Amino acid sequence: MDAQTGRQAFARAAIGTTAMAIAITLFVGTERLAVRASAQAAESTPEFAYSGDNGPGFWGEVPGWEACAATAATERQSPIDIDRVVIDRRLAPLQLDLHETPLALTNNGHTIEQEYEPGSTLALGGVIYELTQFHFHTLSEHTVAGHHGVMELHAVFADPASDKKAVVGMLLVIGKTNHFISTLIANGLPKKSGDEVADPSKHINVENALTSTARYYTYPGSLTTPPCSETVTWLVLHDVAELSKNQFEAFRTILGNNFRPLQKRNGRTIRSTAGNFARDR
Ligand SMILES: [Zn+2]
Repeated sequence: MDAQTGRQAFARAAIGTTAMAIAITLFVGTERLAVRASAQAAESTPEFAYSGDNGPGFWGEVPGWEACAATAATERQSPIDIDRVVIDRRLAPLQLDLHETPLALTNNGHTIEQEYEPGSTLALGGVIYELTQFHFHTLSEHTVAGHHGVMELHAVFADPASDKKAVVGMLLVIGKTNHFISTLIANGLPKKSGDEVADPSKHINVENALTSTARYYTYPGSLTTPPCSETVTWLVLHDVAELSKNQFEAFRTILGNNFRPLQKRNGRTIRSTAGNFARDR
């Protein structure tokens, strides 16, 4: 998933990119870093990448992003392969209350993301999480019994009172045309980092994207982008969605490979609602 990466982390990552001429002003007392760079360089240079010098293998070397290195046996990083699950009949259908939001897709250099207006929630474990945004990865980040989807949707819910998050993940595979994806693509997708495609007259509801929210896997994990914070309760839906090859290509052309490699499971239990595991993919 794509975190709201702090300016501080960005600044530190940018320092490593010596090719860029950047002036940095440090406000030690307030723990604030202000980065001054040419606007062009700032917008065209993502602070992390999925390959090359800033790829996943190097995220953990950046100060503040140590969790990404996943070196401790107790680390709970994401994504992971979903397999050998434990059926837990106490797991209830997800308590979602989802509403429409005006269409506004942004390309932030890592993914295509839709910010969500306040008011859509997920009640989980006594916490009311607020839906803040959803975004996409190509290929999927999670695998199920070793199988990737071609895409994965992440709907990111945040606890306003803490740094805890709950992310609903859904894998997509090539198949029939996906109506929800059609709505997103209709006005064109934001092609370059910094681009936005907005249509305030058009309202979308991520509820229309999701397969059954009564059937899911859940495990304790992390953000899948820096700083890889281990604050996420993952909720990965059993049932995959379909999209057409053309729809997939529309995203793939822009996103390339923006999935983090699988991480170690480290003894974690993956719980599952009751259901036919063999049907899950
Ligand atoms: Zn994501």
